[in-house]
Amino acid sequence: MQGINEIVLDYIRRYSDEEKEFCPECLERGNETAMFRPKGDKITYDNGVKHVHKGVKKAAFCPVCGYSTLDGGTKPVTKDELEQRTAQIATENSLKHGAIGYLTSTSIFAKDITNCTFDNFAKDNDDRLKVARYVYKGAMHLSEGESTHMILQGHTGSGKTHLAFAAIQEIFKQTKYRVKYRKRQKGTNESADAYRNIEIVFCSWPLLMKQIKDGFNDDQIKKATDRTVSALQTADIAVVDDLGAERDTDFNFEQIDNLMQIREDMPLIVTTNESFEELTEKYDERTVSRIQAHSALIKFDDVADYRQGG
Ligand SMILES: [Zn+2]
Repeated sequence: MQGINEIVLDYIRRYSDEEKEFCPECLERGNETAMFRPKGDKITYDNGVKHVHKGVKKAAFCPVCGYSTLDGGTKPVTKDELEQRTAQIATENSLKHGAIGYLTSTSIFAKDITNCTFDNFAKDNDDRLKVARYVYKGAMHLSEGESTHMILQGHTGSGKTHLAFAAIQEIFKQTKYRVKYRKRQKGTNESADAYRNIEIVFCSWPLLMKQIKDGFNDDQIKKATDRTVSALQTADIAVVDDLGAERDTDFNFEQIDNLMQIREDMPLIVTTNESFEELTEKYDERTVSRIQAHSALIKFDDVADYRQGG
């Protein structure tokens, strides 16, 4: 007697690709799995008269993950759809690799925050829940391409950096790692929508200032630092972490002044321990007012300490 696996395998062998249906669940995970959909007779009654419908397709199920059309949800995928989806998944993966590659090759992190998300941010009181919601809202605006300057202001340890990185993760998710642009069609004056990977750079400002100085005597450091500085100017979204925590010198002022002249009308996330008055003392009024342009200010100061709060 044939076991269920042999019946399924035999079924899958007998049907050509054109006739086969593929599992939408397995496809999401990059596997092309043919679904098992037996045909059989269906019997209906019309005024007590029995009708036999020969060879009606029954419910389909996936022999690998158990997905069944009886559960509702997505329909099985045909050969054409499979090819389209496979191409689409390849494109999605390449956009994702591009976006993550850009982030990791341009960013400067003071510590490992790559696992920081909204989910694992400790929302153990109303204030913390509130700031998390505000930052989430800001991330939604940035995902839609708005030129918001989201400013996270509060004392050390309040979770600003955590939420700034959580915002990046959320923006990746919302945008599917991409931005839309108009692409000129070859040999014509027509243009069409196209996608490229989104560019986000995260930069610990005090570390960048230190590295720029270290780079004066070290070509390797200079190369990496130049990459970050140029990304801060051109990326779709730039994150300046811990602004104002660097040593107060004319040199540092020049760096933030240059950057803010370029980024005034571009999306930006800033985290800082300093009030605007303190920042104005360190830099100047014009620079600080450029930071405050299009700003969404989120104050963490009444919020319980992040490290103590756990
Ligand atoms: Zn499956």
